[in-house]
Amino acid sequence: RYDVLIVGAGHGGAQAAIALRQRKFVGSIALLGDEPELPYERPPLSKEYLAGDKPFERILIRPAAFWAERDVTLLPGRTVVSVDAAAHSVTTADGATIGYKTLIWATGGSPRRLTCAGHDLRGVHGVRTRADVDRMMAELPGVTRAIVVGGGYIGLEAAAVLTKLGKHVTVLEAASRVLARVAGEPLSHFYEVEHRAHGVDLRTDMQVDSIVGQDGAASGVRLADGTLLHGELVIVGIGIIPAVAPLLAAGAAGGNGVDTDALCRTSLPDIFAIGDCAAHANGFADGAKIRLESVQNANDQATTVAKLLTGEDQPYDAVPWFWSNQYDLKLQTVGLSTGYDALVVRGEMAARSFSVIYLKHGRVIALDCVNATRDYVQGRALVVARAVVDPALLADAGVPLKEMMA
Ligand code: FAD
Repeated sequence: RYDVLIVGAGHGGAQAAIALRQRKFVGSIALLGDEPELPYERPPLSKEYLAGDKPFERILIRPAAFWAERDVTLLPGRTVVSVDAAAHSVTTADGATIGYKTLIWATGGSPRRLTCAGHDLRGVHGVRTRADVDRMMAELPGVTRAIVVGGGYIGLEAAAVLTKLGKHVTVLEAASRVLARVAGEPLSHFYEVEHRAHGVDLRTDMQVDSIVGQDGAASGVRLADGTLLHGELVIVGIGIIPAVAPLLAAGAAGGNGVDTDALCRTSLPDIFAIGDCAAHANGFADGAKIRLESVQNANDQATTVAKLLTGEDQPYDAVPWFWSNQYDLKLQTVGLSTGYDALVVRGEMAARSFSVIYLKHGRVIALDCVNATRDYVQGRALVVARAVVDPALLADAGVPLKEMMA
């Protein structure tokens, strides 16, 4: 029986163990996960790792020796299939029962798959794990054309890398613009123009009918209008399904994720949930219950739990931030733009250095900064303060954002 059993050895799980030891937690800690590797960073999977610019050892969250030095028991290659909240134990797929005093559920999610014909052909990939990307990379030498289904950050990042690797890339987005769920129109259109300028065949309002193949391997995608696009590699980046089935089956409240309170507690005793799988009321979304899929959220929620378990009761209220790298464009976002009623473009889009600033009821709620780190750094304070600033002033790139705090 472990004092703390962490299920899911990704960003949130690893950080929970790290933060507990940093805060001098002396009890036993086990970090259990279904992947075979040591905990590693996921963002490079669609960036430097896919590009071949960073070997796997360089994306480890901590070197191997760290876990032993901190007395964290790693239990890799294990999948939790059920939780017994009353008995304080979990059962793994290999039939073992592991007891805990406190359980931290940090399982992220699995990539949403297409359900159409051909979705399971060889050459069709999600992008979530190192194994996914290694499979994809092994096929790349034989690939001339790649088709990316989904114009979200992961799909667009993969498109940028594959283009740089000399592949002919098509991006298919079902909505009328890419990044529609997370960004305003100016940012969407900017990225559409960039990808097309790099040779990507980017198509919006596209419905996939099926994936076609030969001898069990994908050879293309058929669109709802009958068009057939050729491609030996199909990358599906259409979101994730939070991995919470065992917890919900154990009686935890939730649905799209497991419900958590401001201290990351689930409705079950001594069970916390953090990261992509945790549905929480977020102050930067006007208290709406959301799941955030970001390293920031996983790390900060892990720290919230570590603090609570070491005697510091500090509700989660961290400022959301995120980044995305495509070509030579470094996007940094702060705050949550969902629900904005006005936006301001600051700086020159044509110069490829600008920010989109989102307002709601006259208050700054978020910034998307492209090659504009200074705006990102200075804009954070505006988001934290929900500052009221004249949009005309925000748009004046000659005036630093830090001078706009009332
Ligand atoms: P994860 O890191 O996914 O870890 C969960 C772990 O739990 C996984 O290893 C999973 O296999 C395991 N698991 C699941 N179920 C079980 C079970 N039943 N038993 C045992 N183990 C289980 N975020 C950013 O902020 N910036 C970025 O640029 C960015 N880029 C990304 C690019 C890609 C390709 C991907 C996939 C994600 C990216 N993200 C990015 C998102 C970020 O990686 C996630 O938000 C973060 O990993 C969430 O951490 P987590 O601990 O909730 O889940």
